[in-house]
Amino acid sequence: MTQGTAQVLAGPPAAAALLDEARRRAARLPRPPHLALVRVGEDPASVSYVRGKAKKASEVGLSSHVHALPGDTTQADLLALIGTLNAEPAVSGILVQLPLPAHLDPEPVLLAVNPAKDVDGLHPANTGALWNAHEGLRPCTPAGIMALLAHHGVTVRGARVVVVGRSALVGRPVAGLLLNADATVTLAHRVTPDLGAVTRGADILIVAAGQPHLITPDMVRPGATVVDVGINRVPTEDGKGRLTGDVHPDVAHVAGALTPVPGGVGPMTVAQLLMNTVIAAERQHVQPEVTGELVR
Ligand code: ADP
Repeated sequence: MTQGTAQVLAGPPAAAALLDEARRRAARLPRPPHLALVRVGEDPASVSYVRGKAKKASEVGLSSHVHALPGDTTQADLLALIGTLNAEPAVSGILVQLPLPAHLDPEPVLLAVNPAKDVDGLHPANTGALWNAHEGLRPCTPAGIMALLAHHGVTVRGARVVVVGRSALVGRPVAGLLLNADATVTLAHRVTPDLGAVTRGADILIVAAGQPHLITPDMVRPGATVVDVGINRVPTEDGKGRLTGDVHPDVAHVAGALTPVPGGVGPMTVAQLLMNTVIAAERQHVQPEVTGELVR
């Protein structure tokens, strides 16, 4: 039997299209949407992520400001900054870079962000809106996955979709978005018996389990679309390590289409963050009372 090679669902062109749309819509607003980036301390990864987000923001015509707080900032001072940003009409979106230093509790901080400015889409008001198919801001990686599928012409409506992983960041919210888009969704996780029997039922398989090569070719229906959300650093002989997904590379011989790691879902997340900032700014423009005093 000759084995096929899956179509590559590349992230960069889909991310570029999303960024183009963000740029176009931002330009229609009376002033550039503004993203407030809050980080505490000097964790090198956080410094680099926040810098990257600010740079991409300026590339699409958004303004941004990095609020870099010292590592010994108190919970009260951090909450006070969030309160100021919530009430500032010129701020369209607020992102608190995680992880916070150990002495700070992230939960009350995320709850304090005005849901209308919650561009990460993780406030319970937004996750509740997502689950009830109401208007709200959607979490970035899940919404980015939907944009990636749409860009490459993958039909979600009516598809049997299996999501492996039920995290708050990816599995749960992507299941909600898929359901809202008329897919039939199965959510599998660590306790699911005979995972392969479940995943073989998928027309579209989305894997966000954080387990290198969890999905092997025998677990995939021939011709299925496979989205690999995993970003795992595995050791190499030279000691540098290399990024690998949750899907075994040989799945490319069975799947009809497959996202690469890196270069698949990864680039979609920041693009969607900026799109969310534009969406937040558009809604605040139409309905200015969602900023400032009325909605906290
Ligand atoms: P992420 O950071 O990708 O969102 P988390 O580490 O927070 O992932 O969560 C991992 C998810 O993957 C959990 O929901 C867990 O149940 C699921 N998972 C982990 N290992 C397996 C496995 N071997 N089979 C099925 N699901 C798994």
